[in-house]
Amino acid sequence: MRTLCWNGVNDLGVETVADPEILNPNDAILKVRLSTTCGSDLHLIDGLIPTMREGDVLGHEFMGEIVDVGAAVTKVAKGDRVVVPSFISCGRCWYCQHDLYSLCDTTHPKLELQEPLLGYPTAGVYAYFACNRRLCGRPRPICPRALREHRLFPGARRRLRRNRAVHFQRCADRLHGQAYVPRLLEHAQRGELTPASLVTHRFSLEDGPTGYDMFKHKEDGCLRAVFTP
Ligand SMILES: [Zn+2]
Ligand SMILES: [Zn+2]
Repeated sequence: MRTLCWNGVNDLGVETVADPEILNPNDAILKVRLSTTCGSDLHLIDGLIPTMREGDVLGHEFMGEIVDVGAAVTKVAKGDRVVVPSFISCGRCWYCQHDLYSLCDTTHPKLELQEPLLGYPTAGVYAYFACNRRLCGRPRPICPRALREHRLFPGARRRLRRNRAVHFQRCADRLHGQAYVPRLLEHAQRGELTPASLVTHRFSLEDGPTGYDMFKHKEDGCLRAVFTP
């Protein structure tokens, strides 16, 4: 498949990488119909994450059509059109059951690496594997608010004790897209919300580097660049 790759600081390219495969019975494969830029991509592009490696795939804001599902998938089927929040959630753990999807306990591929860095692991995030390759940076004290919030979550307290955790990733505790997207879609269907107004620039995926550059520098009033395959 074609994809946007990070090849170095401020150096993006569109390249062919291996097609995805169903590795877990809960997996689904999506044919991306539209993707967009995100401010958090800029941290990766700017080289603020020292564990990035040449060839890392970028992009975690997308929608499209399901083309394959694992044996345990029941909520979506081939042909469904879906919007995908950037945080991956299992729907079954304590956090998912309480609508705290970005704190999902089961979808992060390298919990043991992220946990000491952030204080508590988040859910997995699409195309953020590089951030978790290995620890980087010096630990910082846990913020008081993080401690207060962790009191709500028994699993988190246990982990904090075990790891002398360092800092809570504040933004990650409120990115519960799975809770909001259905309501937002209803508003959009009723015409009360016009998400398309955020789309200021459209590109083919092949022009991804140009689109990201415009987004980064807010050229021509670029609010969001979107890409079609
Ligand atoms: Zn994002
Ligand atoms: Zn979960």
